[in-house]
Amino acid sequence: MAVAGNTLTASFLTKIRNMQSTGCRLCTIAREARGESTDGLADETHGHINSAGCEGIATKVTAAHHSILRHLYDSMHAAQKPKSKLKFVMLDKASNMGTPWRREEFPRICNKDDLAEKAQDIEVTKPIKKSQEARYNLDPASFFVNHFWGRRLDGFAINEALQIGFVLEFKRSTDRDEVFLREVKEAEANEQHKSIIGARKAAAPEWEFGQINFLVGNRGSLVESDFYTKLKQLDVQELEKDKLFANHVTQVCEAHNRVIVSFLQQVQGGTRPTTEGSRENIGHDVHL
Ligand SMILES: [Zn+2]
Repeated sequence: MAVAGNTLTASFLTKIRNMQSTGCRLCTIAREARGESTDGLADETHGHINSAGCEGIATKVTAAHHSILRHLYDSMHAAQKPKSKLKFVMLDKASNMGTPWRREEFPRICNKDDLAEKAQDIEVTKPIKKSQEARYNLDPASFFVNHFWGRRLDGFAINEALQIGFVLEFKRSTDRDEVFLREVKEAEANEQHKSIIGARKAAAPEWEFGQINFLVGNRGSLVESDFYTKLKQLDVQELEKDKLFANHVTQVCEAHNRVIVSFLQQVQGGTRPTTEGSRENIGHDVHL
């Protein structure tokens, strides 16, 4: 049921007149437990209950996101061409942009301070979001640098011999249309890390940097040709690609199912959701 996308969300139930309100039941439970108002609740849509924006499901979504990623990168690593010098550096939920500089290869690509300086040149040109205003006003001088290093991303792939680096990103969308996935979501993911790529290009001009996004649509749909192109960029052996594709789709569906089962258990059983966890580390637009 979950994979088919027919979960009985409040949004759906109000349409068939089984419920009065479309507000998310899990967010309601979480807010009531904290003694907060339930005004302005997000609608309990399929997209919301699969996102880190839902207070009752955020921890599960983040865990599912990382488990899919880990599996995908482990499989790519295992299926790499034997002669490839490409290294995967995956970041867990406790890591941020600065973490890889503790390794030995990253300071060899560029100096951390140089990178921060170039990043600041790019970050200052971007408008400050309403949610960031308070932090900016507190310390405008260090805001951009902290913001840059505090960003989280899924990982890097670097090839020191060829001086090529990629930012890796895994995203799930509630849309399953191929063109939408390929063009709109791809552009969104690229926009998100534009300053990281731009700063790296400026700090290490002899390197080539790019971004590789793994995008999954609603109900586990993936653009097959697009997935294969990305595997090729990451030096995965041609022979292994079909197996990787099938395993990745299975992982995505299973992880999605775990999230939906948790949602159903919580709304049916009235269990208090776990709200602690890594919502701060993962954007609200992260879907699973
Ligand atoms: Zn919610």
